[in-house]
Amino acid sequence: MRLQAPQVLIDLSAIPEMRGVRLAGENLRIGALTRHAETLTEPLIRAYAPLLAAAAPFVAHPAIRNRGTVGGSVALADPASEFPAMMLAMGAEMEISGADGMRRVPADDYFQDLYQTAIEPGEILVALHVPAAGPRHVCAFDEMARRRGDYAMVGGGILAERDGGVIANPRIALFSVGSTPVRARNAEAEIAGKALDADTIAAAQRALDADIDPLDDAEIPAAMRRHLARVLLGRLLRKLETCS
Ligand SMILES: Cc1cc2nc3c(=O)[nH]c(=O)nc-3n(C[C@H](O)[C@H](O)[C@H](O)COP(=O)(O)OP(=O)(O)OC[C@H]3O[C@@H](n4cnc5c(N)ncnc54)[C@H](O)[C@@H]3O)c2cc1C
Repeated sequence: MRLQAPQVLIDLSAIPEMRGVRLAGENLRIGALTRHAETLTEPLIRAYAPLLAAAAPFVAHPAIRNRGTVGGSVALADPASEFPAMMLAMGAEMEISGADGMRRVPADDYFQDLYQTAIEPGEILVALHVPAAGPRHVCAFDEMARRRGDYAMVGGGILAERDGGVIANPRIALFSVGSTPVRARNAEAEIAGKALDADTIAAAQRALDADIDPLDDAEIPAAMRRHLARVLLGRLLRKLETCS
């Protein structure tokens, strides 16, 4: 997209630690070089990180998905991208490596500003560690774009647990609503410990206003993005279902 004009290009594709998808304890370890297209077909991702699989068909087009990598998308951290926001919704940790060794950064601390992440100069993103979803988890993904494959005007995903008839530990992450992917903590607080009836969903939609701070841009006024985000959240909450 001509955002960068690097003098040196380093090909990461021969680093074996950045490849492959495997269960590691309670987490699914997704190598940074995993292609977008693999998130649609890899059985471990479908089983244990279903929100990522649900988002994948919305990322660009097949040609892009065959080349683009999950790590590349999360390293770039475009605030309009699906996968970075889903890392936030899933509570993933980023495995970052440099000359001084390896460290893991929770998604809540990783996205810092527009295209700015916790990756320091001299470091690379090696893998994503996603807490494996189980039978108690429910999730939903949706986005609104002018045309399928375009960057979304607004989008989001939810991962939560169903505890009896109520929602527990919800994580809601939206994209295209600010300079980073955004966690909707006020909306989460409205649904935690409650059954998702019409009143609760309406309260979460109202609370969302305090979670997001969209900017006006040439295509979409901020007020419209706020409205679309509220509508999207209602859709997501109504379609939350078992995802694993
Ligand atoms: C026409 C088009 C449409 C698109 N539509 C969408 C869309 O709808 N939704 C969406 O989410 N994305 C979309 N994308 C983006 C695309 O899906 C890729 O995620 C993105 O281009 C990154 O590609 P890449 O993995 O090849 O990374 P690169 O382009 O190679 O890298 C992106 C940036 O991250 C850095 N980087 C890459 N890997 C690492 C790493 N492991 N560690 C540290 N830094 C790293 C690079 O240095 C560079 O700065 C679109 C792209 C195009 C060209």
